[in-house]
Amino acid sequence: MEKVEKIWLDGKLVDWDDANVHVLTHCLHYGLGVFEGIRCYKCEDGRSAVLKLKGHVDRLFASAKVGFMKIPFTNDEICDAIIKTLRVNKLEEGYIRPIAFIGDGEMGLFVKEPNIRVSIACWPWGAYLGDDGLSNGIRGKISSFARHHVNVGMTKAKISGNYVNSILAKREVVMAGYDEAILLDAEGYVSEASGENIFIVKDGLLKTTPPTSILKGLTRDAIIEISKDNNITVVEQRFTRDELYMADECFFTGTAAEVTPVREVDDRQIGTGKPGPVTKKVQSIYFDAIKGKVEKYKSWLTYI
Ligand SMILES: *Cc1c(COP(=O)(O)O)cnc(C)c1O
Repeated sequence: MEKVEKIWLDGKLVDWDDANVHVLTHCLHYGLGVFEGIRCYKCEDGRSAVLKLKGHVDRLFASAKVGFMKIPFTNDEICDAIIKTLRVNKLEEGYIRPIAFIGDGEMGLFVKEPNIRVSIACWPWGAYLGDDGLSNGIRGKISSFARHHVNVGMTKAKISGNYVNSILAKREVVMAGYDEAILLDAEGYVSEASGENIFIVKDGLLKTTPPTSILKGLTRDAIIEISKDNNITVVEQRFTRDELYMADECFFTGTAAEVTPVREVDDRQIGTGKPGPVTKKVQSIYFDAIKGKVEKYKSWLTYI
């Protein structure tokens, strides 16, 4: 990972190597932390912009609410801190990782007044599933690990501990030679990938999992909006594993993975085995939007 100069920690900018926590940090032991993944892009006019800044920070606070955590900063203060961290590091394009977590001071599961700490780091980060994946598609595999039951994992909150499940799924399929894991929900329907939402196309109709067991992605929202604006019918409807095998096209969406085509699932070629027309269309509009090339979607951008 490529280092930058500073990390924002509990309200102050500190040197990258000094942004450390104690080994008795509660979150390190039990996993109660909430985080976000945000991207900043260099736009066509040369300025840099954070994509969906408010949406991400609102979701960070919503996740904290689910986790019974009171973040000791306001929503606006976190937005400002994100911009400040990007500016001080002169990062024109990259990934931003805010995290709020229970710090050290108390052990045991019940902490009456948890010490909530917050940090914001950023660094340069290219295509999460590779440049080749973005242009030619990746190979997915259904994991033997299921996505959390909605009453077990609080699936809509980006809670650190939830990602043990995603890591197990990802490692399992990568070690078997695939690129990304697809998880089924507790009832056996397709849910999402380890860190991305999933869409399929059949006979021109775009379909994505409804927001039940999934983490409701902001990229997913962006793709739904782009589709509606471009006369592509999109439905939020659950689907089965065999429906996925029979799809004409499939792609993943996420801040890290952006819009990544899926060319194969469980060794079955999806459609022609190449990114299809609907995938290519929404992907290219998405990449134009984040670079500030589409008037209507400029509202997604916060220039820094
Ligand atoms: C973060 C995440 C996503 C994608 O959400 P975006 O808001 O689009 O970045 C999808 N699934 C999981 C499990 C995630 O953690």
